[in-house]
Amino acid sequence: MTATLLFGEPIAAALREEAKLLAIAAAAARGRGPFLQIIGSADPSAEVYAARICKDAKNCAIDARVELLPIDAGQEAAEFVVNRFARDRDVDAILLQTPLPKAVDSAKLADLIPLQKDVDGVSLMNAGACAVGRSDAYYPATAASVLEIIKKSNVRVAGARAIVLGRSAVVGRPAALGLLAMDATVTIAHSKTKDIEKLIKEADIVVAAVGKLAMVRPEWIKPGALVIDVGIHRITDEGIAKKLFSNHPERMAAFQQKGSIVAGDCHPDIVTIAGMLTPVPGGVGPVTSAILLKQTSTAASRAGNR
Ligand code: NAP
Repeated sequence: MTATLLFGEPIAAALREEAKLLAIAAAAARGRGPFLQIIGSADPSAEVYAARICKDAKNCAIDARVELLPIDAGQEAAEFVVNRFARDRDVDAILLQTPLPKAVDSAKLADLIPLQKDVDGVSLMNAGACAVGRSDAYYPATAASVLEIIKKSNVRVAGARAIVLGRSAVVGRPAALGLLAMDATVTIAHSKTKDIEKLIKEADIVVAAVGKLAMVRPEWIKPGALVIDVGIHRITDEGIAKKLFSNHPERMAAFQQKGSIVAGDCHPDIVTIAGMLTPVPGGVGPVTSAILLKQTSTAASRAGNR
């Protein structure tokens, strides 16, 4: 058996289209389209990423702007900026772009973002909304991507047994809460979990977000299961690549050509056992920025004429 690969790009394209339609509808209803305010620091890599979001946003009829905090900005100055946009009726959505200035407590800053503008799901308020299953909660982008891929897979989630490997605040925990909200029976596994293989073997849906290269073995997977691999690991060691991709000559050839290759938390041979699988790279990754745009348009639709 070979698993159906769930590529992220078509899902991301559909999300961008949905974001655009919602944006156009919001503009027609209230005379202005969605507005996403990105707050970052004057860091070159962050600036490149923010510029890409702005470009993608423009293609979805969303206005996105960037406010850069000086790299030596303190907490008070950063809070002043977030509070300004939190109060601004023209701002529908706020994204805190990492890395923020060193002196800034990012968690404190996140908590200043109102629930309805927190499209990246970073505030304590949003974490609470996800935890109690509120329908207006915004899940953090990576967890939201996992949930979107599961929805688009058309697998029956209600009543299914799901296991989420990893309990971080931004990926594992919210992904598990989202699956619970979709009526799955959810197990959350972590570094202290005993008999993890046995628990994985019982699951119809496996979400791997452990940050450990190829930890999840093919023999642990229930045949036909849906497997979402969130992990991203760049391999530059030829010995490791050879061991991992011994049954995948085309991936090994790609390694030889580039001198590196990206793999996930799941062993590549899982493709012969799972029913559906997200590839790494090209699975969860591409969906995350599109999710942000869709959530921005959703925020604008919900806001109406504030
Ligand atoms: P993280 O904060 O390091 O959390 C890892 C989680 O895995 C922790 O809950 C940890 O348990 C658990 N864990 C570690 N070793 C384990 C083991 N042997 N068995 C079971 N559980 C174990 O990582 P993260 O931020 O959630 O990210 C997870 C992975 O996703 C990473 O590979 C990261 O690079 C990737 N990622 C991908 C995207 C994307 O867009 N595709 C975005 C973000 C992250 P404890 O809580 O007990 O320590």
